[in-house]
Amino acid sequence: MAPAGLYFHIPFCKQKCPYCDFYSVTRQDRLPAFLAALQQEIRRRADRAMAVDTVYFGGGTPSLCPPDAVADLLALVRTHFHLRADAEITLEANPGAVSAEDLERLRAAGVNRLNIGVQSFRDAALRFLGRIHDRAEALAVIEEARAAGFDNIGLDLIYGLPAQKASDWRADLEQALSWTPEHLSCYILTFETGTPMTRALQAGRFQPLEEERVAELFEATALFLAGQGYDHYEISNFARTPDYRSRHNLKYWHFEPYLGFGPAAHSYRQGTRWWNLADLDIYCRSLAQDRLPEGGREELSREQQVLEALLLGLRLKAGFAIASFEQRFDLSVQDTFGRLLNQLAEEGCLAEIPGRCALTVRGMRYHDSISARFAAEL
Ligand code: SF4
Repeated sequence: MAPAGLYFHIPFCKQKCPYCDFYSVTRQDRLPAFLAALQQEIRRRADRAMAVDTVYFGGGTPSLCPPDAVADLLALVRTHFHLRADAEITLEANPGAVSAEDLERLRAAGVNRLNIGVQSFRDAALRFLGRIHDRAEALAVIEEARAAGFDNIGLDLIYGLPAQKASDWRADLEQALSWTPEHLSCYILTFETGTPMTRALQAGRFQPLEEERVAELFEATALFLAGQGYDHYEISNFARTPDYRSRHNLKYWHFEPYLGFGPAAHSYRQGTRWWNLADLDIYCRSLAQDRLPEGGREELSREQQVLEALLLGLRLKAGFAIASFEQRFDLSVQDTFGRLLNQLAEEGCLAEIPGRCALTVRGMRYHDSISARFAAEL
């Protein structure tokens, strides 16, 4: 079995961003109780035989964790799992929620990849997104991260904001590139059900950017970053060189095992997916009583596994290898999906890569609707 990735969900934020539907709370006084529970969850789920080559602190805002606590968690991981010496250890940090000293201590604790939630370098966009930081703070954190010795930095950016001009988005990208980040994640703003931003949209307080403009920005982003030498390896993700692809996130797209810890975290291993309850209090209470806070579990049917492997694989520029897919699931890609693949080729959505099934940049933009079409063929 491929080595696993460990994901730690740190469910605290200084304040909630109006577009976000990730599970997090603003009650930071609960941080000590949470960290004790998280340590207990690691001990309860220990598996010394399990090789682990990626660790990801996500959230929430993991940079709100004291660096000493991150060091303690990593020490516990080393005790209870077989953490490889060359493991990728990522932590998400938000401007306004991390200091220069924290960054130095996180680096010393063994974090070797920093993902910074910049979102935009434009103050007006940051205000619309309800972020706690401004442009100056975003720039300062990147500079401080480099000074702290981080040589593998990812920047998260959001585009497709209401009335966003292509030139504004291009300016954000150029500003990001001026730091030659090792990784860039460029996400389209989405309106998730039940968020304050979606309610404001439904109340008519702003107009979303037209779908056509969003598609143009998507293709312009891919073209511009490719021209700057970045490897567009996944729908929203770009690496300065292939070595800087997110090894942890690739596990999700390669349908490889991962274990998630913390409230709302998901795990997947050998055809089974399970997840923790999205409730900090229940999480802490369960683990204090030495019970795992599992919220649900499902055995994926063969059909579900086929579809997930296919759709996750199609998120990648390289797509998936047809021969190993056919061997794994004992089906013929041509017999099952041939008609749809021909249609996608005619629409300019299917890339021509020998032995592989992959989407073009245009196809990637429509990954969601293409996914539904694959599901209908099964
Ligand atoms: S900081 Fe991140 S996790 Fe927290 S509310 Fe904002 S987008 Fe969501």
